[in-house]
Amino acid sequence: MDKTKLKKKHLDFLNINLPEIYFKIMDKDDYKSHYQLIKKTLKPKNIDNVFHFKGDIEDFYSHSFCYDKLKSTLLKVAARVKGNIAVYRCFFNKSQNFILSASYKSIGLSERINEFQIPAEKTICRLFSNEDEKLIKNIDITIDTDFQAIVIQCVNIAFNTLLANILETFEKHGIELSFVSIIQVKKPFKNADKYYKVEIKTIEKIEETEFVSLSQDFERYIQTSIKAMSIFDMVGPSMVGPSSSHTAGANRIGQIARNTILAVTERGEIIKNVEVKLLGSFRDTGVGHKTPSALGGGLCGFGTDHPEMIAHGEPEFLKNKGIKFGKSTAIFIGYTKGSPADDLKYLSQRNNNIAEIHFSTNIANYFITGFSIGAGNVEIRFFNKELAKPINGKTDFRLDGAEIIESNDDKLPLIKKIFDEASVSEIPSLPFNTFEELIEYLTETGENLIKIICQTEYSLQKMSEKEVYEKMQLYWQVMKSSVYSGVKSRETSMLKLSGGDSKKMNEYLKTDTLFDNIYGKAAAYATAVNEINAKSGVIIACPTAGSCGILPGVLTAWSEQHPDAEKQILESLMVAGFFGMILFTDVSTAGADYGCQAEIGAAAAMAASALVYLEGGTYAQMIQAFALAIKNCLGLICDPVAGLVEVPCVKRNGIYSSLAITAAFMALSGVKSFISPDEVVLTMREVGERLHIDYKETGRAGLAKTRDGKQVERDFEEEVRRFFG
Ligand code: SF4
Repeated sequence: MDKTKLKKKHLDFLNINLPEIYFKIMDKDDYKSHYQLIKKTLKPKNIDNVFHFKGDIEDFYSHSFCYDKLKSTLLKVAARVKGNIAVYRCFFNKSQNFILSASYKSIGLSERINEFQIPAEKTICRLFSNEDEKLIKNIDITIDTDFQAIVIQCVNIAFNTLLANILETFEKHGIELSFVSIIQVKKPFKNADKYYKVEIKTIEKIEETEFVSLSQDFERYIQTSIKAMSIFDMVGPSMVGPSSSHTAGANRIGQIARNTILAVTERGEIIKNVEVKLLGSFRDTGVGHKTPSALGGGLCGFGTDHPEMIAHGEPEFLKNKGIKFGKSTAIFIGYTKGSPADDLKYLSQRNNNIAEIHFSTNIANYFITGFSIGAGNVEIRFFNKELAKPINGKTDFRLDGAEIIESNDDKLPLIKKIFDEASVSEIPSLPFNTFEELIEYLTETGENLIKIICQTEYSLQKMSEKEVYEKMQLYWQVMKSSVYSGVKSRETSMLKLSGGDSKKMNEYLKTDTLFDNIYGKAAAYATAVNEINAKSGVIIACPTAGSCGILPGVLTAWSEQHPDAEKQILESLMVAGFFGMILFTDVSTAGADYGCQAEIGAAAAMAASALVYLEGGTYAQMIQAFALAIKNCLGLICDPVAGLVEVPCVKRNGIYSSLAITAAFMALSGVKSFISPDEVVLTMREVGERLHIDYKETGRAGLAKTRDGKQVERDFEEEVRRFFG
C-alpha cells in the first residue's frame, strides 16, 4: 500500500471525508498532526475552539465549519507574513463540521517552493498590464473544463476583502466548497502591490450559467477602479457653478485640450481652427450647465474658479476674438451637437459626459475626446485614437509624433498638467480599499484617522499636513461665504427657477422655535449654497456642484453652536473627503453615470460622517452614518429640468441635509446599518448601473419631462439656439 492510501485509510478510521486533492498535496510528514487536530475538533465539546499545530514552514489550524473562524484565523496568519510569497490551503467538510487549513508563510525561502507552482513575475504582469506595463484590469476569472475548479487571479486587493468575498459569494449561491488554495505574492511587478491566485474546488460540478453568475458576483465585490485621488477631489474644487461634472469638468477638458494644442504648436505647426462637439449628457443638458462656455473658457486658459471663465467661453466672444495659442490665433468654428450615432462610438466607455475638440493645423487635422467622470475629475482618452493611458491633468505628458506618452525627454513637446499639486503617485498607497478594511486597520494599529488621512494625502499628492489644513481652511471660508451670502439674497436665477427660498426659510425659523435648530438651519443653509451655485457664483463642490449645499449647510449650522471649533470642522471635512474617496473607488459621483444617488447621496453620507466626527463619535459610527445615508438615497434619479442644476437640485440639497443629520443621529445612538457599509456602496453601484440612461442627467424623463418641466425647456430654447444655432 502506498503512502497516500495509508493516509486515507487512517482518516477513514475516523470516517472523515476530505477532497481527493488533500491526499495529493498534503505533506506526508504532517499527516499525523492533521489527524490529531481533526480528531480534537470533532469532539462536540470543542466546537468553539481552534486547534493549532506548528510545522516547519507551515501552520495547521482546525475548527468547526465556520467561515468567520476561518477568516479570523487566516487574517491573523496573514498579518504575520513577512516574506514575499505565502500560500494558504483550506479543506472544507460541512457534513462532518470542520475546516482544516494550512498556511505556508515563508515558502519563498524554503526548498519546497517548487511544490506550489508560483506564477512568474512576467506571466502575472502580462495578464494584468498592457505593453507599457500599465495596469489594464485587476481581476481575471476562469473555470477549468470540467467546471469543478474556478481560478481567480487578482491584483491590488486586500486579503480580507478577497477571502470574505470568496466565502460569502459561494455561500450566497449555495455552492459547497471542498478546497481553496490562495497564493499570495507581494509586489509581483512595478504597478501592483499584491497578487493573489485563488483555486477553488467545489463538491458539485458548476454549471456554466452558474459560473457566469458567480463571476459577476466576484467582479462586483472585488473589482475596484483603484484611483489614486485626493480628499480635495471630493471636497473641492472651488469653482464657478452650476455643475462640477458639466461646468468644472468641461472647463478642465478645455484646459487639457489647450495644453495639448500648445504642444502641437511647439513643434512648429500653425493652429488654424477649433471646433467643439458635445456628446451624451454634455449635448443633452450642457447649455443649462454652462458646459460649452466653461469648456471654451478652459480652451482660453481660464481655470474652474476664475470669475471670467464663463464670459470668455461664450460663443459670440470666441467667434469675434478667436482663441490665442502662443503666437497664432485659431478661428473658433463653434459649438456643435454630436448625433446619438456619435455617442455609439463611445459606448464601451463608462462615462456619458463627452466632448470632442477638433482642431486643424497647417499640417494635419486632430481630435481629442474628453470625459467628465464626476466631481470635476476628467479623463482625455482619445487623441486621434484611444490613448494607452488617459490624461487626467494631474501629471505631465509629452507629444511624441502621433503618440502621447509619459516621458522625461524634454526634447519632446510638453502637455502640461493643469493641477497645481505635485504629481499623483502611480500606485495608490491606501492600506485598504473598503470601509471594513479601514476599521480593521484603525483597530489593529490604533492609529489616528486624521493622521492617516494626512499621510495618504502626502503620499498621493505630496501635500504636507500643514498644507492640507490650510487648503481646507480656504475651502471652509468659501463654504461659509456661500451660506451667508445665499441666505441674505432674494435674487433669482436667469429663468427664475430658484433663488430667495433660503432667505424665506432662514427668516421663518426665527419665528418658529420648532425648526430653529440644526435641522432647520442646515436646510436653509444648504438651499442657500445651491442658490448661489445656480447663479454661477463661487462654491466648493462637495462632492459635486449640484450637491454642494449639504456639507456646508450641516457644518455651518453645527459651527454656530461651536464658534471656537474651527480645527475640528476642518478635520471633519477631511473625514468627509476621505470617506468620499473610498466611495469613489466603486462609484463615480456623477449624476450622468450613477444618478442623483451618487451626488446627493454621497453628499449626505459625507456630511453625516463629518457630523459624527464633530460630535465625538467612533470611527465605526462615522462609517455607519455614511452607510445609513447612502442606503436611504438609493435609486434617486437625476432629472434636472431643462438640464439646469436647479429643479430639483436646489431644494433637494435642503431636504437631504435633514437625512444627513438623522443618519448621524442614528449612528451616534448606536443604530447600525443591517447591510454592511461596503455592500451598501456596491449596491449603489449596481443600482446606478441598472438605472435607465433617461434618468442620468439626460433630461429625457422624470421631472424634466413633466408639463411644467417642458415649459421651462421651451423658455430655454432661445439660449440653446445661441450656442448651437
Ligand atoms: S438631480 Fe441630482 S445629480 Fe442631477 S444635476 Fe441635480 S443634484 Fe446633480
